[in-house]
Amino acid sequence: MRTFDFRHAVSVDDAIRSVAETGGAYLAGGTNLVDLMKNGVLQPPALVDIRRLGLSEVASTEAGGVRIGAGVTNSALANHQLVRSQYPVLSQALLSGATTQLRNMATVGGNLLQRTRCPYFMQTEFDRCNKRVPNSGCAALDGFNREHALFGTSSHCVATNPSDMAVALTILDAVVHVQGPGGSRSVPITEFFTVPGDTPQRENCLQPAELITAVELPPSPYAAHSWYLKLRDRHSYAFALVSAAVGIEVSGGVIVSAAVALGGVAPMPWRVPAAEAILIGQPPEDTVLRAAAERALAGARPLNQNGFKIPLGRSAVHRALVRALDTVGPAAHQG
Ligand code: SF4
Repeated sequence: MRTFDFRHAVSVDDAIRSVAETGGAYLAGGTNLVDLMKNGVLQPPALVDIRRLGLSEVASTEAGGVRIGAGVTNSALANHQLVRSQYPVLSQALLSGATTQLRNMATVGGNLLQRTRCPYFMQTEFDRCNKRVPNSGCAALDGFNREHALFGTSSHCVATNPSDMAVALTILDAVVHVQGPGGSRSVPITEFFTVPGDTPQRENCLQPAELITAVELPPSPYAAHSWYLKLRDRHSYAFALVSAAVGIEVSGGVIVSAAVALGGVAPMPWRVPAAEAILIGQPPEDTVLRAAAERALAGARPLNQNGFKIPLGRSAVHRALVRALDTVGPAAHQG
């Protein structure tokens, strides 16, 4: 049996100090961390419990957005009135993930930091995984790679990011607030995650002992008309083969703003500005939506088992755009 220290932090500063001193890990919902500890994938010398630090508020900001404490559970956030009314894509993404029991435990901060479900990473019986054991190789390259990435990969790792929530946050231009031994900073979500390159063990920009304290959503012109569509092997309790988060604003018969991001196809939520550019300035017609969906998957680099994700991804983007457009009133359609 492996032993580890366990501490209840009494404040954010106390938590940061404890993790910096021990080299341990923050414990919130524990839905991913504890699994990985049971499997022997992670062996932190200490767990620092951050569940009593008052990080569980959802509140409007003066700017008209929403600030979400990192300790808010996925269930509480998905069902919060502000989120359901202003950012439906976020509520849909959260409710598409895991199970009710897991969503009741999992937190916003933990969701952002959840690890890939690549089986070679999750099971220590496999020798080759650069993410788990740096420089050991990547068993997925010549092994099971049906669920792996199309974009942002390297010869060192082809794993996907499993978060649904992060895909929605990406089209919402979320800002991640973090605090660490060196102070506080705010990171745009598009700069939070990192591609594997030759250091796949690094997955985000967090420095040692930095703690996510909140996520902030700015007001968004298209968020009220947004949609999250997740395609997977079974209807619940499965990670995305492909997902699409989209938002669309139509005025005077023209798309005036839009956002498109893919999930399940890259080591991070994969926003596609080129697909957005195809939409903006055009009438909301099916040929335009299909052109944007085609562009969203352009440049994909499939492995030997996951080429099916390319047409699946196009369908996901197209269908999500159609559903988002359905929420736009008929008056906006008229030129
Ligand atoms: Fe490990 Fe990444 Fe290769 Fe999976 S894809 S075996 S996580 S290095």
